[in-house]
Order: sequence, then structure tokens, then C-alpha cells
Amino acid sequence: MIEVVPPDKRVCERCGRMDVWSEREQKWVVADADGEPQHGRPHCLHEWDINGSYNPVPE
Ligand SMILES: [Zn+2]
Repeated sequence: MIEVVPPDKRVCERCGRMDVWSEREQKWVVADADGEPQHGRPHCLHEWDINGSYNPVPE
């Protein structure tokens, strides 16, 4: 189950990398899904599904 909480989570539209916002570290950290860190592709120029303001993009 992945809860969609826009300000706390971002996903790359190119490679599928998923980050979650760490309150403790005050930075984005790689999220886990099914026990696997969602790193995406190493050389991807990540295109996040959020850009400052929340802008939902239907798939
Ligand atoms: Zn990416």
C-alpha cells in the first residue's frame, strides 16, 4: 500500500525513482516499495511529478 501524500513523496516520470521526504533528515530519501529501494536509473535526469506546487499528472 502506497499512500499518496503529495508534499511528502515524489516520483520520477522517466525512470520510476521514488523519494519520500524525511522530516528527521530534512531531505528527500529513496523510498522502498516491496522491500526494494526505488533508485530508478543512475544517470536519469529525474523528472519529478511535483515541481514546487502540487500538480497531479494522470497516468
Ligand atoms: Zn529518473
